[in-house]
Amino acid sequence: MARRILLLGPPGAGKGTQAALIANALHVPHISTGDMLRAAVAEGSDLGSQVESVMAAGDLVSDSLVVAIVDERLAKEDARCGYLLDGFPRTLGQAEALNDLVIDAIGTVVVLDVASEVVVQRLLKRAEEEGRSDDNEETIRRRLEVYEADTSPLVNFYGAAVLTVDGVGAVDDVLSRIMIALAKS
Ligand code: ADP
Repeated sequence: MARRILLLGPPGAGKGTQAALIANALHVPHISTGDMLRAAVAEGSDLGSQVESVMAAGDLVSDSLVVAIVDERLAKEDARCGYLLDGFPRTLGQAEALNDLVIDAIGTVVVLDVASEVVVQRLLKRAEEEGRSDDNEETIRRRLEVYEADTSPLVNFYGAAVLTVDGVGAVDDVLSRIMIALAKS
């Protein structure tokens, strides 16, 4: 059976970490728009130079650019039997575009629930350790505002497909909560 999962949650909720583990456990590709955009920046491609300053400011790349990237990625053979989308959709426009791209685009939407004070602390710590260019305090605040304004409405948009999972705790504990919630869904 095709497993089509979306992972939603604020920046710093642990989406990237959990997405890789869930995708591995379910044998579906982990498709992260943030990773694809960072790779484009690192390569110095045309796309990379278009998005670099927007990402560094903590703002969202335009829906049309991101939808085009996802469209191309979902057309690949490995996504036919399912996928785990991480960081997409992030706006209502992207969510509507996804519904137009794939029939039955969404099976389950996992929302990682972490309070904003906790995510700010995590992101500041990651800034010290990894030096990601969008992990400074001002950009972190901006990314959280953008999440609240543009992405959190998706929880209502997806309604009954949503499973909310507590994202606070050890990586393995959060993973088991997600796998148990998915198994029941
Ligand atoms: P985080 O969830 O920690 O903010 P991501 O790796 O998902 O990190 O995204 C990093 C940045 O990449 C975002 O702040 C945004 O600029 C850009 N980005 C990623 N996915 C999208 C998307 N679906 N739509 C628009 N911009 C995106």
